[in-house]
Amino acid sequence: MDHFEYRDGMMHVEQVPMAEIAAAVGTPVYVYSTATLVRHVTVFREALGALTDPLIAFAVKANPNAAVLATLAKLGLGADVVSGGELLRALAAGIPADRVVFSGVGKTEAEMRLALERDIFQFNLESEPEAEMLNAVAVAMGKVARVAYRINPDVDAGTHAKISTGKSENKFGIPYDRALSAYDRAAQLPGLDVRGVAVHIGSQLTDLAPLEAAFVKMGRLIEALGDQGHAIRTADLGGGLGVPYDPALPVPPSPAAYGEMVTRVTRGWNVRLMFEPGRVIVGNAGALLSRVIRVKQGATQPFVIVDAAMNDLLRPSLYDAWHDIRAVKPNGKSTTANVVGPVCESGDTFATDRAMDHVKADDLVAFMTAGAYGATMANTYNSRALTPEVLVSGSQWAIVRPRPPIEALIEGDIIPDWVR
Ligand SMILES: *Cc1c(COP(=O)(O)O)cnc(C)c1O
Repeated sequence: MDHFEYRDGMMHVEQVPMAEIAAAVGTPVYVYSTATLVRHVTVFREALGALTDPLIAFAVKANPNAAVLATLAKLGLGADVVSGGELLRALAAGIPADRVVFSGVGKTEAEMRLALERDIFQFNLESEPEAEMLNAVAVAMGKVARVAYRINPDVDAGTHAKISTGKSENKFGIPYDRALSAYDRAAQLPGLDVRGVAVHIGSQLTDLAPLEAAFVKMGRLIEALGDQGHAIRTADLGGGLGVPYDPALPVPPSPAAYGEMVTRVTRGWNVRLMFEPGRVIVGNAGALLSRVIRVKQGATQPFVIVDAAMNDLLRPSLYDAWHDIRAVKPNGKSTTANVVGPVCESGDTFATDRAMDHVKADDLVAFMTAGAYGATMANTYNSRALTPEVLVSGSQWAIVRPRPPIEALIEGDIIPDWVR
């Protein structure tokens, strides 16, 4: 559910007409709804209501805007970070360090030092050499790092290959059958407090079965580790729950169904459960607002050329992702078209053969469900300014990241004297 709704023939976000934002900020622009963020946090938390004090750590990479993070911080969420930069962003937005988990296969010594200084809740280790490095850093600082190992359960998440992370050929985690020896070794390292297990098998999961299979394996591992003398006190079940993008497809499992499955599978584990939802919190809370530059007749279909491009919203080009594209002020007619951006790449295509609202030059369109992995992946390819972001709450709205002047992009480069 979201708060992008038509009123008097015009798409509004909460109480604000989308056209008002486009007129004031220009396009393309990301627009986020606070009410949708609050709703998704509430629904996710309620779904886990049967658990004792779960830690819900928002996956910052899905949407690291400071205003979004501050909104989630006020709602009590923690953060799952994958870099020193994300850690600093989360802390700056008011997320307390004791709710921060650090994931990722390539944590550097400097990032480890930073996270230890700030005393984060837990490191999720992804390899044995990483454990050795963290131990050395912690010992040198006179600290002990709280750690879990991320386990690669070798299950097929049934999602796009580029967002699948729990198969044995993926780079993430340590293989399930190497876990016992890895824990034995880590337990001997004085700089580590080995206390948890972690798993995250992929993103945009539309079936609970692979998640359940992975969690069942984790339950067995916790038991085996216990038998071997390791006191496992946390189990981080990752993120990955899918959101509806295409209204023609079956709706992904609800947070309630996910919570029911988790509650059932983890009964008797006797650990604090942790979650790292990203997309399910922010996905539907954002839309990318864009203006049609012109419509060009192609060999078969018209090309609707919009002022947003793959640099603003990379998902269609990177993951073949499908975003609903709607006219902000529909004229009642429909069409079949290819929707493309101005970037000089054939991959700069948002939709092919798409049945959609009929639009013409100067009309506004909205790319729905763009709140996750949208602005965060934006870049300046083709020397396009970084996409601005707006946060709406009721009838008020604010620019939470302005569009930088193109001069800033140009002045950012340095021409050495010997070139001049
Ligand atoms: C990306 C990621 C998440 C969030 O995934 P979603 O599909 O957005 O919920 C959680 N945990 C880890 C380790 C991740 O890399």
